[in-house]
Formats: sequence, C-alpha cells, structure tokens
Amino acid sequence: VTERADVVIIGGGIVGAACAYFMCRAGLQVHLLERNFPASGTSRACDSLILLWDKTPGPELALGQASAALWTELAGSLDFGFEYARHGTILVAEDEQTLAAGCARASDLAAAGVHSEILDRSRLLSLEPELAPDLAGGIFFPDDAQIDSRRATLALLLAAQQQGLMLQTRAEVTGIRRGANGRISGVVTATGEIATERVVCAAGVCSGQIGRLVDFEVPVQPRQGQILVTAKVPNFIHHPLLEGGYVATVQSAAADLQVALVAELTASGTLLLGSSRRFSGFDRSTSPTVLQAIAARAVRFLPGLVRVSIIRSYAGLRPWSPDHLPLIGPTHIPGFYLATGHEGAGIGLAPITGQLLTAWLTGGNLPFFAAQVHPGRFNCGDISRTNS
Ligand SMILES: Cc1cc2nc3c(=O)[nH]c(=O)nc-3n(C[C@H](O)[C@H](O)[C@H](O)COP(=O)(O)OP(=O)(O)OC[C@H]3O[C@@H](n4cnc5c(N)ncnc54)[C@H](O)[C@@H]3O)c2cc1C
Repeated sequence: VTERADVVIIGGGIVGAACAYFMCRAGLQVHLLERNFPASGTSRACDSLILLWDKTPGPELALGQASAALWTELAGSLDFGFEYARHGTILVAEDEQTLAAGCARASDLAAAGVHSEILDRSRLLSLEPELAPDLAGGIFFPDDAQIDSRRATLALLLAAQQQGLMLQTRAEVTGIRRGANGRISGVVTATGEIATERVVCAAGVCSGQIGRLVDFEVPVQPRQGQILVTAKVPNFIHHPLLEGGYVATVQSAAADLQVALVAELTASGTLLLGSSRRFSGFDRSTSPTVLQAIAARAVRFLPGLVRVSIIRSYAGLRPWSPDHLPLIGPTHIPGFYLATGHEGAGIGLAPITGQLLTAWLTGGNLPFFAAQVHPGRFNCGDISRTNS
C-alpha cells in the first residue's frame, strides 16, 4: 500500500506526539509511525516534571519557559486530561553551601522572570514535614509543574487525530527513500510505504538508527535513569522535591553513576524516587547497586521512607545530546528533520519542540533560540532555510 503525507513523523513518544499536534493544527497532512504503541519508550519510563530552575538562563531557559507556557495552554484546551498540576517544586539543600549556591541560581533565574522564594529550615519543614530536620533550607519555585507523561502523549495524539493525523502503531520504520536529487521521497515499514518529502525523526534514543537509514550521524546517546516506585503514600510530600546537587548531575557528562534526590508524588498517591544517570548503552534493566543508591539518598532527605514499601522499579533511557540542548530543525539532507536529544527534559520541552518544527515546515516565525537548537551546530545540518 502506498499512501501520501506532507510529513511523516517517526516515533510516538511525547516529542513525536507534540510534533503531530502542532503540525496538524497548522493544517499539514501528517502520518505518524510508531513501532510499538504510543509512549512505549522513554516517555513512559520517566518522571514528568516541567522544570524551569534546572535550566541555564539564555536559550535553554527561554526554550523551557516557552514550553511551560504551552503546557498551561494545552492543559486548558485538550479534551483528554493529563493530570497537569502547577504546585511548584522545592530545591532542598543539605548544607549551607548548597543553599547559597541555590540562592545564587535563583537570583540569576529571577532576572529572567523565574519566580522563587527562599525557605529557611523552619519554613521548609512547615511546607514539607517529612523532610529531615537537619537540612539547611530550600528554595520554592512556584512556576514548575507536573503532568502524567503517558496521558499527555495520548492527549496530544487524540487531539491531532481529531485534526486529521494518521496514527499507525506496530509500524517499525525500516527504510527511508531518497530521490536522485537526494531529497526524501518516502518512508518504508513492514506493512507498506508512505510517499512524502519530509520526515521528522522523533525516535528518542533510537534516533541514531533512523539517521543511519539516510547515512546521517545523529549525535544522541542513551543515558540511563532508574526509578523506585513506593506503595501509596498520599500527602507524604506536597511538592516535587529535588536536591540542590541535581543540576550538577544533569550537566555532568561523566561516565560513572550520578545520583541526586528527585521525589515526585503521582496523582494516584505513589511516590516516584530518582534520580540516577549513567551511560550504559541500551540497557533498560534496573540494578540493585543503583536502586540502593537512590533509596539511600531518598532516606537521607525523607527519613520516614524507611517505613514505606517499594512496589516496583523501572529504568528509562534519556536521549542525551553532547551540549545538553536538544536537536530541533532541518539537517543538510533535504527533507530530513530532527526532534530529539532532550535528555532529562523531553517531557517539559515537548510542546515547544512541536511548535518550532511546525514553524520550520510552514515558514513561520522562528524565535531566537531556534539557532541554538539547530542540528547544524554539530556540523550535521544546514543553518540556512533552503531545505525547509
Ligand atoms: C528516569 C527518567 C526521568 C525523567 N524525568 C523527566 C522529567 O521529570 N521531566 C522531563 O521533562 N523529562 C524527564 N525525562 C526525560 C524524558 O522522559 C525524555 O526526554 C522524553 O521522554 C523523550 O521523549 P521522546 O519522544 O523523544 O522519546 P521516546 O518516548 O523514547 O519516543 C521515541 C519513540 O520512537 C519509537 N521508535 C524508535 N524507533 C522506531 C522505528 N524504527 N520506527 C518507529 N518507531 C520507532 C519508540 O518505540 C518510541 O516510542 C526523564 C527520563 C528518565 C529516563
């Protein structure tokens, strides 16, 4: 069967879903191919925080702020609920030095419009009584939010389908065709072929495999993260909690294990405990060493957890990019676009990714940060718009 589409998106994670939503809304005829089912990759094996305070002021923060605003809009407009909650997050500081570094960060972020409130120890404990009594303090960031990433992926896909999206699951892309002039001409799956001149690779950690189908090297690597899930503990915490050292683990490119507390209560009352970071190829298995390190960090900050049962654990693969910014935009291969490399921020950054790629495809206005996330910065794309 040969069908035809203006754009074919490869990957039905949250990034592919957001691309589909904004492209359909702009009137493009879009076909999305997912080899398993929606959100079957990293977008179901993660936390779901929409964080601003982990972003560096400049293009990264601007990207985060634009995306956070889009999530607020989407929460008000999409039919299928995705548990959007804007309770803010709290940076917790184990010692005075970490608190001072957090305050310096909050002050830099304030200049870019990110709100925060410094919490001394007693105020911190009044907001979060389960925290250890010897912590130095914390910083409350009221603009941060939380969603359910699986529901959000479905919400975007359903809304896109209402605007004409052709969604095909169990459809693994095995080939990409190019014409004599090098332009993309079609996408091949086991069940057929779709004629198109534009392909968006939103395949997360598998983006390298998709790139190889057109002899294109995508500089994205899997960076594993593991999560512990507790039994239901409603109201155990009232905000997502992250330790001050979290940003250093995100920005580090060290190969060895990095662990920093991230605690997030889900709408169903379970607590998700992370975070770990490690380069271990495509290994999705959890390991006792990493889970024990996560548990030890969690108990350091929330001692009452020793009485709480763990019901399961999982691992996900973050699509890591070498300069810590995603790759969003056209490449030097005419018609081949990237929407990948979001590492630990793809849930938060999905909507702006969809909006930006739609602007590339339709000739819409590009914000200043489009150049900073352009794949061409790795010498693998073309900064001009001649191929859009
Ligand atoms: C432990 C952990 C915690 C995290 N916490 C947060 C957080 O709090 N906030 C945040 O913003 N981000 C967080 N992230 C990061 C976030 O989960 C990712 O950045 C995001 O899910 C990436 O989405 P994606 O759509 O690019 O990739 P994926 O969700 O992996 O989607 C890619 C899809 O492509 C499909 N695919 C691959 N190859 C093919 C093919 N050949 N043909 C067809 N389909 C194909 C896959 O099946 C998959 O469904 C976390 C990640 C982890 C691991």
